[in-house]
Parts: sequence; structure tokens; C-alpha cells
Amino acid sequence: MSTAELAPAYIRAISPYLPGKPITELAREMGIPVDSIIKLASNENPLGMSPKARAAMEKAAAGIERYPDNFDLTRALADRYALGMNQIVVGNGSNDVLDLAARVFLAPGYSSVFSRHAFAVYPLATMATGAECIAVAAKDFGHDPDAMRAAIRPDTRIVWIANPNNPTGNFLPYPQVKAFLQSLPQHLIVVLDEAYNEYLPPADRADTVAWLKEFPNLLITRTFSKVYGLAGLRVGYGLASAEVADLLNRVRQPFNANNLALAAAVAALDDNVFLAESYESNRRGMEQILAGLKRLGLSHIPSHGNFITFKAGDAAGVNQRLLKQGVIVRPLANYAMPEHLRVTIGLESENARFLQALENAVSVKADAGVTGVK
Ligand SMILES: *Cc1c(COP(=O)(O)O)cnc(C)c1O
Repeated sequence: MSTAELAPAYIRAISPYLPGKPITELAREMGIPVDSIIKLASNENPLGMSPKARAAMEKAAAGIERYPDNFDLTRALADRYALGMNQIVVGNGSNDVLDLAARVFLAPGYSSVFSRHAFAVYPLATMATGAECIAVAAKDFGHDPDAMRAAIRPDTRIVWIANPNNPTGNFLPYPQVKAFLQSLPQHLIVVLDEAYNEYLPPADRADTVAWLKEFPNLLITRTFSKVYGLAGLRVGYGLASAEVADLLNRVRQPFNANNLALAAAVAALDDNVFLAESYESNRRGMEQILAGLKRLGLSHIPSHGNFITFKAGDAAGVNQRLLKQGVIVRPLANYAMPEHLRVTIGLESENARFLQALENAVSVKADAGVTGVK
């Protein structure tokens, strides 16, 4: 028996998460300087972090010998959303909260339901518990609520919805999300993952937090990693009924979010100037990239996030040719989308450089010998 066989078969069946290629790794591989590389692969905020968050983090560094206390962030979130503090779950990134939901509600013999091209963490978190994954066929790459409802079984305990979804950018209008919630059986938890919520234009937004009163089985997750620009600190949160939050908090590591992250998150939450700048920069960048894709005759999936997924045909080849020019985007073969690439909306100059590199990459015929890479 190999040592690996000591792990349950359902753990051995997991394929690891594929992150965006780190800048330093590409620099080593291609022998190009770090400063000449742009990374538009992980939906990070090109404006960096809020100056208020930075100041708070620097101040918090003075108390780093202490274990963290998430009281201030929990209270700030409870105030912000008019919820009880017992309805908040602080996470080491919202990923942590997704994982807690799986650990609390799934186990061998149970199943979870998600859309085929939804966020990769749903199958990962599900499989780690030994529960079964039910991937539902998508409609135009987005969620198909009717098909998802039909896929629910008596042993299903979680339905995952990312809205907007990553990596496709699809958005299911909120009236449809609510109708879906109302139509579901009561024996399951609905995780509504709103990592890109702050990028939605006002007309598309809805007060989903208010729905918690009506749906005690709803868990909403949000993050400081995207519009707040704190991806490297790892902090996110879940909002739920007190009952659901209590269960997640029992399984949560007591000190899961660190001092620096907690302090930065509290400060970032109220920095409306930085949020508005980030939103505007994203809106402009979206227009810029969409115009560029149109010029190149490339189709895309309408996106409601801070990234755009477009069809590149020989995406693996195009990706390699982008990498050679120092531009990192995200290939999506592991999302069963081998012809698509996902680009994060960057600064104006980064978007321009991406579009130029893309033009070079698609105009090269993928003939043998041209790229030398498969
Ligand atoms: C980025 C992202 C998250 C957030 O991950 P963090 O752990 O908070 O950094 C969650 N869900 C989706 C769909 C995402 O794209």
C-alpha cells in the first residue's frame, strides 16, 4: 500500500486548484525582468489597496505578538448590514467560509449542486468532505436555475451560486435568484457567493442581505480580496441566520483571520472614495477591453465582474504567446472551457498592453514551429 492510499479515495480524487501564474515564476521561466510583466490573471484590484487600509494595517503591525480578535470587524459588518453579530462569520478569505459551509453541511453520503462553469472551489470544498458533486449543464455559460433545481436530490445539502460567476462573468438577475430560492426544497443550504458584488452597477443590485429574514437556509459570502484590494491579506465573511453562522463558527479556526487583515478590513469597509475609484476604473477598463476585443473580432461572455472571458480559439497557444510577451491571463481548460481565456481588467496602460499583445498573439498562425509550445 502506498502512503497516498492512506488517504480516503475521495481526497485522492481531488485535482488541485490552479492559481494564476505568479509573476516571479514567469520571470524565471522566460528570463524576463519582473517589472516588464503584467499579471491580469487573478481578478486583483489594479489600484492596489485603500490608503486607509494600509495605514490601519501598519498600525496593527505594532501588536502582532497578540492573537487576533475579530470583534471590531464583526461589529462593523453587523452595523453595516443591520444584522446581529451572531450572524457574521469572519473568514481567512471568503474561500475559508465556503470551506466551512462544506465541512458543516456535507459529508460522505451527501451531495452539492453547482453550475458546470462555476467557481472551482465548490467542487474542491465538496470533495474534501467526501460528498458528491453534481455539476449542472450551464445556459450560455451561466446558471440555469431550472436545471439546477431539477438536479437536487434528497441527499443534497448545498446549492452553490456565484453571482456574478467566476470565471464566466455571468450574472443572474436578482429577481431570478430570489424566485430560485423560493422554489427550492427546505432541506438544503444555498450559498450565494457575491465576491464581485461591489462591481455591479447600481441598477443590478439588490438587498440580498435583507433576504436572510425570509430564508434561514441562505448563506451570503463576500470578500475583501476583490474591489477592496486585499487579496494577499486573506479576509472575507459570511452572512447568515444566527443558526447557520453558529454552526460555521464552531468549525472555524479560532484565529483564522490575522491582525493585519482584520485591521485593514475594518478601515477598507468605509473607504468609499477608494471603492468609487475602483468601481470607475473597472467600468472604464471594461469599455476599453471590450472595444479592443471587438476590433480583433473576438467574442466574449458578457461580464459583470472585474474580468472578461473571451473566446480565443486555440486558447492554449494564444496563452503561450501572451506569456512570451510578459502578459499573464488565465486559461480556463480546467473549467471545461478550453477555447476561452479570462483577463482581469487592469489599469488603462495594462489593458492597452494586453490588447497589443493579444493582437500579436492571435495574428500569428498556430503553425508547427511558430510557438514551439503546446
Ligand atoms: C475571488 C473569488 C472568491 C474570493 O476568494 P477569497 O478567498 O475571498 O480571496 C470567492 N468566490 C469567487 C467566485 C471568486 O471569484
